[in-house]
Amino acid sequence: MHIQSIPMWEGTGNNYAYLVVDDNSKEAVIIDPANPPEILPVLQEQTDSGKIKLSTIINTHHHHDHAGGNSEILKHFKLPIVGGKDCEKVTKTPAHNSTFTIGESIKVTALHTPCHTQDSICYFFEDGTDRAVFTGDTMFIGGCGRFFEGNAAEMHKALNEVLASLPDDTKPGHEYTKGNVRFAKRVLENDAIKKLEEFAQNNKETQGKFTIGDEKQHNVFMRVNDPAIHQLVGHDNPVEVMKTLREMKDRA
Ligand SMILES: [Zn+2]
Repeated sequence: MHIQSIPMWEGTGNNYAYLVVDDNSKEAVIIDPANPPEILPVLQEQTDSGKIKLSTIINTHHHHDHAGGNSEILKHFKLPIVGGKDCEKVTKTPAHNSTFTIGESIKVTALHTPCHTQDSICYFFEDGTDRAVFTGDTMFIGGCGRFFEGNAAEMHKALNEVLASLPDDTKPGHEYTKGNVRFAKRVLENDAIKKLEEFAQNNKETQGKFTIGDEKQHNVFMRVNDPAIHQLVGHDNPVEVMKTLREMKDRA
């Protein structure tokens, strides 16, 4: 599979849409194409030249900066929309752990991860030994999303049960890495966090460069069982640790 990150609102929102293409069939899906003026030209060029056959819009959750471009995209491409129940113009909400395929060789598993929003879904993409997960605002590289519609117990389950159980070599998406590293360093000192900081300083994009295995080392929200963090926050119950870390990050 081929994954193309398309930056949106650079300098202000710093969000990404992802175009994922099946190598043989050229069947393609666009994930969270929230800002049509930046997305449509890319889709138009690649469909016109025969590089892709666009089949589906996929949304990770209903927020405007993820699903807010759907109506406009539909004016130009007639596509089904797979996403959480509250996403604009959604046509299908896949059940937790259900699978679908893209083209000949990409298998997608939908993972329900309610918390940032109740309709948040992460999508685990597998093509042979190539694995990626699109996490929307549930997990960032080095961080997690705010608990707008959920609680610490739900985020603990999403990160440390659902996403943590994916193969360690799975590559997660989504940025905001520099801000997350700044916070991680206040909470914990380890080699993985130092490595992530160095990488984020020298590279604009961190998506695709780290794995779920790395997250377990440098993402403090996935280290709710780390004794050094227990000492800092003053308790060791993982859900309470998750709650305290999020409150600290919200104030940061
Ligand atoms: Zn969001």
